[in-house]
This record gives sequence, structure tokens and C-alpha cells, in this order.
Amino acid sequence: MSSESTLRADIVEVGRRMYARGYTASNDGNISVRLGADRLLMTPKSVCKGFMTPDMMCITDLEGRKLQGDRDPSSEMLMHLEVYRQRPDAQAVVHAHPPTATGFAVAGIPLDRAVLAEVLTTLGSIPIAEYATPSTRELPEAVRKYIKAHDGMLLANHGALTVGADLYGAYYKMETIEHFAKISLVARLLGRENLLSREEVMRLQELRGSYGIQAPAPICAVPGTELASRSVADRTGAAGDATCQTVQAPKGDGSRLVADVVRRTAEGREDEEIRLTYRELSALLEDAIRSIR
Ligand SMILES: [Zn+2]
Repeated sequence: MSSESTLRADIVEVGRRMYARGYTASNDGNISVRLGADRLLMTPKSVCKGFMTPDMMCITDLEGRKLQGDRDPSSEMLMHLEVYRQRPDAQAVVHAHPPTATGFAVAGIPLDRAVLAEVLTTLGSIPIAEYATPSTRELPEAVRKYIKAHDGMLLANHGALTVGADLYGAYYKMETIEHFAKISLVARLLGRENLLSREEVMRLQELRGSYGIQAPAPICAVPGTELASRSVADRTGAAGDATCQTVQAPKGDGSRLVADVVRRTAEGREDEEIRLTYRELSALLEDAIRSIR
């Protein structure tokens, strides 16, 4: 675990990046990290996250009692405490209002379509926690439903929340959500969203291990398609909390846009790179163009 002074500096840096990228306006957003087993280091209430200094941070216990700091802890402290309670593995929590992702949260459209491999391997799907009044006990209650199975979620009519094994991990997931939201928006404006097949999604899920990604839950059923393999009850635990990541992906017809090309190296090992001749590439592109016509 990093030293307290390093973590204070990291929170300042992440706050600066969030503000610079427009993920927060004015005093929005909040950031916390675990400081040992029973203490949290957290951004204070009512400061712009773009202009913090290391000495501004608060230290609280896991019940939210302030242990140290001149300022009061974040107004969203209850939400952070709930995340740490539900996710012993989470070392950091980031909350912001990135505009495109928050637009989806306002429209009530979850980012749960199988579109980008990177998003499927890192976050799976990004659901929307029900609307709750910010800074009240309602908000942790809404977050609780999804946090065991998801490292990132939208908060209806509010913003987004991410967790990570360290602070930068949590912050990068916020970047991924906003980036994914922008790409999804552009694809929808263009009028077409080609979804990856369910088979491809399952392949990507298997690759998580080889990428060293510790996803909180497996990818599961596919609502809104004929392929839902598990009922809603199967996808939720006893308390109605999500137990897996629901992704919309249609059943494929067995063909893939980019075929595997496995070649042997001189030593007889499978070459991990995919290399195509000009002729193979042209054929693939022609196939692809035909399939989207
Ligand atoms: Zn907020």
C-alpha cells in the first residue's frame, strides 16, 4: 500500500484530471482511498476537485466518523462507505458527472451493449443505479444493488461511480465509461450499432484472466434478445442485488468479422500476432462492407 502522503498527492492529481477533462464542474465529484484496514482518505466537502491541495483531505473511519482534517468529508461519504462495505477488494472510489455518460444516465439508457472489446474485458456492462437524492441514505441503497457485480455504474439523473484496486484503476474506469459513452453516442447518431456476438463476448470474458483483469462478476444473460439464458431471478442474489454483468449480445451465426489466422513460428510455437496478406485483408474488408450494406 502506498504511503499516506503519496495517496494525498494522487487524489489531488486525479481531481485535477477529472476537472481538466470536464468530468466535474464547480465542486462536483468526490474521491476516496483506503488508508489501511479501517480508515479512508477522502476529498472534503465543497471544494473544486481541480484545485485541491494534499492537506485538504479528510481521514474517516469506515463508519464515517472524522478522525483527522480541517474540513468536513465529502457530502457523498455515505455512498463511498457503502461501496467499501460491499466490496472488501475495492481500494478506491471515484464519483464524477462526466457529461456524455451522465447524458445516458439522464436518458435512462444503460451502457450494456456488446460493442467494444476493451469495455467488455475491463468493465463488462455499465448499469444504471436508480435515482436517489444525492447525499442522502437513498443513494448508497441504490448503489448497493449493482456494486457487488460491477466496477462501474451510472447513477440515474446524476453521474457515474467507479471502484478499483487502486486510485488510478478507479479513475481510468471513469475515463473508460465516458469514452464508451461518447463512442456509443456517435454510433447511435450514425444510425447503426453492430453488436459483438454472444460467443465473442464469452471469448472476451475468458481473456480477462490472461489480461490479469479481476472482474467482480461474470458476464451473464442477455435481456431484450431471444438469447436470455438466465431469468431475472437467476441474475440477482437473495437481496435482489445483481450477481453478474448483463450484456446485450445477439447469438452469432458462427462467422466472425475477423477470422483467426494462426501461424507457426520457426520454432513451431503458435504466433500470437494476426498477419494477413493483402489479398486476405481485401477479402475480409469486402466481406465486412457487404455485411453492413
Ligand atoms: Zn454527484
